[in-house]
Amino acid sequence: MRSVKTLDELQKLRLSLKGTVGLVPTMGFLHEGHLSLIRRAREECDQVVVSIFVNPTQFGKNEDLSKYPRDIDRDLKLIEPLTDLVWMPTAEVMYPKGYQTWVEVEAITSPLEGAMRPGHFKGVTTVVAKLFNGVQPHKAYFGQKDAQQAAVIRQMVRDLNFPLEIVVCPIVREPDGLAMSSRNVYLDLDQRKAATVLFRSLNAAKEAYENGERNAERIRGKMNEVLAGEPLADAQYVSCADYDTLEELDVIKGKALLSMAVFIGKTRLIDNFVLG
Ligand code: AMP
Repeated sequence: MRSVKTLDELQKLRLSLKGTVGLVPTMGFLHEGHLSLIRRAREECDQVVVSIFVNPTQFGKNEDLSKYPRDIDRDLKLIEPLTDLVWMPTAEVMYPKGYQTWVEVEAITSPLEGAMRPGHFKGVTTVVAKLFNGVQPHKAYFGQKDAQQAAVIRQMVRDLNFPLEIVVCPIVREPDGLAMSSRNVYLDLDQRKAATVLFRSLNAAKEAYENGERNAERIRGKMNEVLAGEPLADAQYVSCADYDTLEELDVIKGKALLSMAVFIGKTRLIDNFVLG
């Protein structure tokens, strides 16, 4: 595995990569969720490139940029057997002095995460566009864990004619159902137990759906009911939306996305299920 920081180094090495290239963008502090993306890329592509970059422009003022967990040595050991090239740009490489160009996707960034985290997706789409331009992959791998992010990136790729395929991989969970996340390290023991409430709440809604419930408000009600039963949980939003547009539904007809953001103490967790 070769590792590079600057754009010059990346571009030189990129020229030497033969065959199809798969890119897995990450912010590091890697876990099995990230590794599942890298393994999938390994299966499908001749060359696997992983980027590790805690992108400052996708964090809000009051978010956890400065304390976002980092462990580069551990990350490199984990990906070494699966990866050909790792790109670890600095903030100066990505956003040099005088930087002034941004990529913004419109309607699909408005609800859910976009509503709670103003500016978040502008940072995401901009950095991902830069990663795509730097690495020039044939395929790029994203997790369903960040369902709206995957939808936004797909939209950007369509709209801006990026010549690559987006592959979205299933959510990897802990044995008790908690979706793996770098942010799970923030949880203390009691909070870690309480954090299963997201999975339990999604399951309750899914069960209602499987028993024939199609009223979206009642589905949201089911999720809220379970969340309300966990004293350490404070729900920020609970959604039952159209899978494609992410607009809130009245009645579930086709594919729907159940999603939520929940504070457990100061830690903000997200999770989702797809119905239909
Ligand atoms: P992050 O480092 O949090 O930016 O995540 C990098 C990529 O890994 C994103 O495409 C995430 O959606 C994906 N990812 C994070 N956690 C999981 C998980 N538990 N299962 C599947 N993919 C994940």
